[in-house]
Amino acid sequence: MEKVPDLQFTPAEDIPEVVNRIRSTFHSHKTRSVEYRLTQLRKLYWGLKDNEAAVVEACKRDLGKSHFETYLTEIGWCENDIIFMCKNLPKWVKDESAPNISLTNRPVAPKIKKDPMGTVLIIGAYNFPIQLSLGPFIGAIAAGCTAVLKPSENAPAAAAVMEMIIKDYLDPSAYTVVQGGIPESTALLDQKWDKIFYTGSAGVGTIIAKKAAETLTPVTLELGGRNPAIITKHADPRLAARRLLWAKLLNAGQVCVSQNYILVDREILPAFLEELKKAQQEFFPQGVKNSPDYGRIVNERQWQRLKKMLDQSSGKILLGGTMDEKEKFLEPTVVQVDDPTDSLMVDESFGPLIPIYPVNDLDEAIKMANEVHDTPLGIYPFGTKQEAMKVLNETRSGGASINDGFFHASIPTLAFGGVGSSGSGAYRGKASFDSFTHRRSYTTTPGWMEGLLKIRYPPYAGKIKQF
Ligand code: NAD
Repeated sequence: MEKVPDLQFTPAEDIPEVVNRIRSTFHSHKTRSVEYRLTQLRKLYWGLKDNEAAVVEACKRDLGKSHFETYLTEIGWCENDIIFMCKNLPKWVKDESAPNISLTNRPVAPKIKKDPMGTVLIIGAYNFPIQLSLGPFIGAIAAGCTAVLKPSENAPAAAAVMEMIIKDYLDPSAYTVVQGGIPESTALLDQKWDKIFYTGSAGVGTIIAKKAAETLTPVTLELGGRNPAIITKHADPRLAARRLLWAKLLNAGQVCVSQNYILVDREILPAFLEELKKAQQEFFPQGVKNSPDYGRIVNERQWQRLKKMLDQSSGKILLGGTMDEKEKFLEPTVVQVDDPTDSLMVDESFGPLIPIYPVNDLDEAIKMANEVHDTPLGIYPFGTKQEAMKVLNETRSGGASINDGFFHASIPTLAFGGVGSSGSGAYRGKASFDSFTHRRSYTTTPGWMEGLLKIRYPPYAGKIKQF
């Protein structure tokens, strides 16, 4: 087993040269062939397979993740994405014929060619350090781009393992990792890119978008949550409790798509709270803190931020609330909130806090959801099918899971992304390929068409009648 290496930041002064090297490889055209792309994807697959133990150890160190969670959301996730990509890539890279709408268009054979965008920068976030970095990276390789990956410095062990894998398994002239924090990221943003793919907070997303605008560089932004779950009086309280508790205990709640707050019909509230208690006991019979299945908050700064959010809330803690600063432990904590302006409602917790706000009916829930944040990353209605469709028809969000928390985000055939302030652009599966592909339209005008085309040349006198 490979050991987890120490993280070394890339000297900022080396960055222009690194980017130039990767860019000149793009211009050599070697990454364009489908065979090359498939070979690199397969190598990445084996790099992950061979280093599974190091990835598991890194995620344990960075986030206290269990082996099961690391397999489910990092290793297995990326391996499956690579398999899916390799299987479909030969089909997706082919030129697409555009539909012919007239006889004169047919001979010019209108087509779309799938061109790689070029040299791309991918900036990853810490919470799923492997998946959120390698997910888009897989798309960039598949599209025929050359790429620089900047993993999150806040998950240092995972960042170091990814660098080791990419260095040892992939073509170093085409793909590389730059390590660092804000100064290194800033130096990267000073370089010319053909695309920037960013995952992280909306604040930094704004910095990236502004910088990219200076050079008209296209961006995909995968940003923050503030996602509502809505539980109507017709929902199954046990099912809603188990599914939403799981959605907040995975990765200790550090999940961009997990619900940020729950709007619960007053009629079902007591039963729902009872089921949450039961679910917590069933999932963690030996107590949450003693469970090997529950992760930790990534660092002291984030732990302090979450503690402050809880301390400042006017809500009442109904379940959980246990904390341990030394371990960066924070129990899944259910808080009943009666003030819609409470920061637990309006700010993204990105942690295991579960604010519950009672509502009188579905209309009030929808109104609240639209007022708190009208373009969340996800929305999660529980109730009848009609009620769920009403929620979808009367709100906006990047995606939605009906009767579940963020299931939609795990389907490789569904594009994943935000809307409005939760992001722009999407990826996963074909959407990842598309995200790094320029759909280049082209036509071919045969010489024999000159007879037909002569109508377009001047002098124009009398020609309009011939149409
Ligand atoms: P983070 O600290 O991991 O930062 C994200 C990346 O931005 C890092 O690589 C970091 O080095 C870089 N960065 C930080 N400051 C920068 C700057 N000034 N210039 C350039 N780059 C900079 O993570 P975070 O930002 O705290 O992530 C948490 C947020 O990310 C939450 O809001 C969460 O909802 C969101 N998120 C979204 C998704 C999604 O898919 N939509 C996934 C995960 C996390």
